[in-house]
Order: sequence, then structure tokens, then C-alpha cells
Amino acid sequence: MCVHGLAWAFLPKSSKMNTLSFQPRQDFLPFCRPAVSEEDIAAVVAVLRSGWITSGPQVVALEDAIRARTGAPECILFTSGTAAMHLLFLALGIGPGDEVITPSMTWVSTCNLVELCGARSVFVDVDRNTLLASAESIERAITPKTKAIIPVHFAGAPCDMDSIRAIAKQRGIMVIDDAAHAIGTKYKGQEIGAAGTCIFSFHPIKNITTGEGGAITTDDSQLAARLRRLRFHGLAADAFERGQQGRSPQVEVQDPGFKQNLPDMNAALGVSQMRRLDQFIERRAQISTLYRSLLSSVDGIEPLDVPTWNHSHARHIFIVRVLPEITGLTRDEFMAKLKEVNIGTGLHFKSAHMHRWYRENRPVAAGSLENSEWNSNRMCTIPMFPDMTDEDVRGVVAAIRYVLSKTRTCVGAERQ
Ligand SMILES: *Cc1c(COP(=O)(O)O)cnc(C)c1O
Repeated sequence: MCVHGLAWAFLPKSSKMNTLSFQPRQDFLPFCRPAVSEEDIAAVVAVLRSGWITSGPQVVALEDAIRARTGAPECILFTSGTAAMHLLFLALGIGPGDEVITPSMTWVSTCNLVELCGARSVFVDVDRNTLLASAESIERAITPKTKAIIPVHFAGAPCDMDSIRAIAKQRGIMVIDDAAHAIGTKYKGQEIGAAGTCIFSFHPIKNITTGEGGAITTDDSQLAARLRRLRFHGLAADAFERGQQGRSPQVEVQDPGFKQNLPDMNAALGVSQMRRLDQFIERRAQISTLYRSLLSSVDGIEPLDVPTWNHSHARHIFIVRVLPEITGLTRDEFMAKLKEVNIGTGLHFKSAHMHRWYRENRPVAAGSLENSEWNSNRMCTIPMFPDMTDEDVRGVVAAIRYVLSKTRTCVGAERQ
């Protein structure tokens, strides 16, 4: 065990001076803060004054904006990405006896809903440095029961969809892109959303937000119609019809449905945010570049790699892996120490198979998800959001250097 105070006391004065010159910031810097402008606020207030606050013209406008941006033929908004996923699984008839392949390195809502629909989640490993699932690992997990494959475009980097779609097509299995991180991502020149069926999230940490909200884009118009019904009680028509500024009172239930329609108050925020999507991504890209250059000289703190195939990255979150063998800190200690100096961090994600229910109910063979586990134990999301200044970014890296300098001298002292 390392006794920080002791090792510190024996250090030469010059190295004390180095770390003592660090001044923690006065205010807490969260790892994410939504970029809400006065225009965004005015857009939401206008809805509140309009007399129609639930799903209506703003939902239509945001669906149009997402279709225009992605090139998707259809877009359907929901109250969250998770709700979108739920109704999509129901629309596809995913249920008992079915298997759904997903990386374990994902947000748990995907596998939770697979399980809640009565199907089974089958986890695949990801690349150690991009966190993307490959066609090869997915192919090995396919069985006659496989009903769907859900690759995740992690942190805004796209999976290699050509190879994944090719193996799925051969076997007639549906591919659903988890594009929660990927509004604005391009794969080989094409927007994510343009092809196939994709799920987006507009949770406050995502690249654009509606407060809570999500969307499905699809090139399957029958699936889109079914999703619209499932979203709103199973009624033949949706909440709002342009023609009559409301819903026809005579519409009937076609098949029982849920109530997962996004209110216009939320959609208006999304319409306003969509106008700044490119601006947001550009600022995130600048921050990423600055982080990469500043962190390149920090040992034991490793950013992710980007994929080798042609792509345009949406820079959703900035993840580093904390190597305890070099830094002398576990990831959890690293996060706690950054918090002490007013720097917030996140964890995206603890691998799904390592959560208690999945450990107990969906055990995996030891070593089969090695890269997911390796990252799950070391990864940490450091602050990145459009309104951060370069000074904030430099402050985060200075704070990282500071917390490491204290333990590094300690690791050194132990070895002596
Ligand atoms: C955020 C997220 C979701 C779910 O989105 P919600 O809108 O929060 O329900 C799904 N998958 C991934 C990878 C996510 O990051």
C-alpha cells in the first residue's frame, strides 16, 4: 500500500513546487452540459404560448428535420431512445425463443428491453481500442434463433456497416443501428440513418437534446406505420394531423398500442438544436483534438482510437482509459480524485454482462468478452460539451496531471 502523505514528505522541494502550482477550479465542471441557447428557450416558450403543447406541428417539424439531415425516408419520434427500442422490438415481433446480438459494451437499455420482451441478449466483444463490434465477432454469435443484431456506433464513431450488413443479409437477420451517439456521424460518406433502421437518443448528454426523447429512422414504410400506431394507443392516425390541427375523433384502434409520443415542448427544443448540430460537432471535434494533443504526453491515460474506414465522427463523448499499472490509480480512484478538484467524469459504460442481473442470469464464458471487461474497468469519460472553453480543456488536463503526479511519485517511492 502506498501512503501518499509519507512519500510526499520525502520529496525534493522542486517536485513539490511543480504540483503545488496547480490551482483547482472554483466551480465544478460537469462531464457534460447541454448547450441551450436563448433561441432554444424562445422556441419552447413559443410552444407553451401556442395552445398546443403535446405532440403536434413541432414533432412533425423535428421528424422532417431528421429526415432531411440523415436522408432517411421515415422518422418517428418517441419519448426516449429506450421507448423507441421497446416499440421497435414489439413491432418486429421479437419475443420468447429469439436471440438478439448486441455488444456488451453498450447502454443497458438495449439488453433490458430484449429481456423484457421475453427474448435473450447474446453479447459480443468489441475492439479493444475503438469499442466497436466487428462483423466477425457478430458472425460467431449467430444461431438459428438470432432475430436481430444491434451494433453500437460508439462515442460517435461508426461501425463497419458494410461487413455487418453483408453477414446479416446472407442469413436474413435484421440489423438495427444503435445510433444514440451518432446523430451527424457519416459512414463512407453517408449519414447514419440514411440506410436501414436506426435508433437515436436525445437525452441531455447526447449531441442534440429534446430533454428526453428518441427517434427511429427507417427505410421500411410498413414498419414506420406500425411504429406510429404503437406509439399512440394503436390508433390508425397519430395525435396530430396537419389538415385539421388535431386528431380525428373517429379513429379506431387497429391493434393495442402504447403512449410514447414526444410532446411539442420537447420537439421544439430539438428543432432549434438541429440547426446547430454541425456547430456542436465542430466544437466537439476541436475539443477532442486539443485533448489528444495535450494527453499525448501523459503516460497511462489512453484515448480511444478512431476506425480505419472512411467516416466522419460525431465526437459524442471523450473517453480515456486509465492504466493502473502506469498511473498507480484505479479508474474509480482517478474519478474520485478528479472530483476532489472539481472535475466531473462519467462512465460509458460498465459492460452489460457485468451488471448484477446479467452476471446472475446471463453468465458468459470466462475471457469471451475480454476487451469489454478490460475497458469497463479502465474507461472514464472526461468533460466535453460545446460550451467548454479551451481554458476548461487545459484545466482538465492540468487536473489529470496533478492527480497523477501525486500517485506517480508515490509509485516511485515504493520502488526505491
Ligand atoms: C443513451 C443511449 C441509449 C438510450 O437512450 P435514452 O434516450 O436515454 O433512452 C441507448 N443506447 C446507447 C448506446 C445510449 O448511449
